[in-house]
Amino acid sequence: MTDSPADLVITGCTVLVHDDQEHIGFEENATIVVRDGVIESVTTSPETPPAAELIDARGQVALPGLVNCHTHAPMVALRGVAEDLPTEEWFNDVVWPVESNLTAKDVELGARLACAEMIRAGVTCFADHYFSMDTVASVVEGCGMRAHLGEAYFSSQGPQGREKSLEFALRHRGAAGGRITTALAPHAPYTVDDTDLAATAELAREHGLPVHLHASENRDQAETSLERHGVTPIEVLARTGILDADVLIAHGTGILDRDLPVLQNATGRVAVATAPRGYLKFAWPTTTPVRALHDLGIPVGLATDGAASNNSLDVWESMALTALVQKSTTGDPRWLTSRQALHHATLQSARAVGLGDTLGTLAPGRRADIVLVDLSGPHTQPVHDLAATLVHSARASDVRTTIVDGRVLMRDRALLTVDVAEVVRELGERMPALLDRSHGRRIQDYDT
Ligand SMILES: [Zn+2]
Repeated sequence: MTDSPADLVITGCTVLVHDDQEHIGFEENATIVVRDGVIESVTTSPETPPAAELIDARGQVALPGLVNCHTHAPMVALRGVAEDLPTEEWFNDVVWPVESNLTAKDVELGARLACAEMIRAGVTCFADHYFSMDTVASVVEGCGMRAHLGEAYFSSQGPQGREKSLEFALRHRGAAGGRITTALAPHAPYTVDDTDLAATAELAREHGLPVHLHASENRDQAETSLERHGVTPIEVLARTGILDADVLIAHGTGILDRDLPVLQNATGRVAVATAPRGYLKFAWPTTTPVRALHDLGIPVGLATDGAASNNSLDVWESMALTALVQKSTTGDPRWLTSRQALHHATLQSARAVGLGDTLGTLAPGRRADIVLVDLSGPHTQPVHDLAATLVHSARASDVRTTIVDGRVLMRDRALLTVDVAEVVRELGERMPALLDRSHGRRIQDYDT
C-alpha cells in the first residue's frame, strides 16, 4: 500500500467472488481498488480511497472480464456470407475460397471490428487463431484488449507454415505490456499431418509454448479418422506428442469415450473451448462433453468461434447456450447450474488460455480485467437469484463498462479505443474483392 492515489476505484457495486473452494458468491456494496493494472483490494469498507479515476457503480455487478477462448476475430468480415450450409459446403464452397483473397488490411479491419464487438459485450481477452496475425497483434496493442494469439497453418504450406507460427509466437510473446500471450497454432489434425504435429509438439516443448488447435470438432471427423487411420483425432494428438504440451482444443464435440483416458493421461495441461451456437447451426449431432471433461478435471472455456459460423462474438450468449445445451443433452436440469456456467466463464476460461493464475477472479493480485453490468433493465428485474439473472436474463448489451489492466476501454456503453463507423466504412469498400469467388481457388480442401 502507498499513500498516493489509486489509479482506479470502483465503488458501490456487487462483486462476483470465488471462495477457496471456487464456489461463486456475491459481495454487496463493495469497493475495488486498482493500482498499476492490478487489483489491490476488494473490500466492503465504506471509505473511498483517493483515486485518479473513480467509478460510482451503484446498482451494477462487477465480474471478471469474459474470455473468448477460441475465435477467428477477423472473420467478422464474413459474418453472414455462408448461411444454412453443412460444414463441408461452408468450408469448400464459401469460406476457404473467400479466404484465398484475404489481405492483411482485411484482417486488420476485421480485427478492429471484432475488438469493438467484444469490448461492447464485456469480453476483455480472446484466443485468436488466424492468418496475418502480426496485424491482429497491432490491433490488440491499439485497442487495449488482452489476447492469446496464434498464427494458423496447414501442412499444405510446407514446413514454412509451422516455422512462421513459431516465429510469430516467439516475437509477440509478452507484447503490448504483457497483454499478448502466444501459442503455436496448427489448424487441425485433418489439415496438419502427423509429421508436422510431431514437429510442433517438439517446438512447443523446446520453447515453452502452448498449442491451440481444432480437434475432433465433430463426430464425422472422429469417425473418418478411425476409418482411415484406426485412431481418433485425440489419439493422433497423443501419439504425435501434442498432449505432452499445454494444449487448447477447440470444440471437441467428437470426443469419444475411448478418448477420455487418453486426455486423462496427457502430461501437458489440456483445456477445451466450447462454442455451442455453431454446433447447433451446423446441426452437429453432439456437443462438447462438458460433464465428462469436468470429471477429468479438464477446464472448459467459453468461446464463439468465428462470426462466419457463429454470427456473433457474444460470449455472454455462449454462456447461456452452454448451460442450456448441457441440460438438454444430459437430460438433467440440475446439471450446469448458473453458478457452474459462471465458473466456466471465469476461472475455467482463464485457465483455458493459460492465464489461470492472473485472471478469472476479482481478487487482490489479479490483473484488473473487470466488467460492470447494469441489472436495472426490466428484463433483469426483480433479482431473486443473481447467478441466474446474470446467465439467463442479462445480455451482452447490459455491460456498461469494460476495463482491461485497469484501463477503461468502454465507459457507459461508449467505446474509447475503436472508431466503429470508420472501420465499417473501410471494410465495406473492400467487400467486392474479398467476396470474389470467380477465380475458383480455395486455401484448403475440407475432407474430414
Ligand atoms: Zn475455429
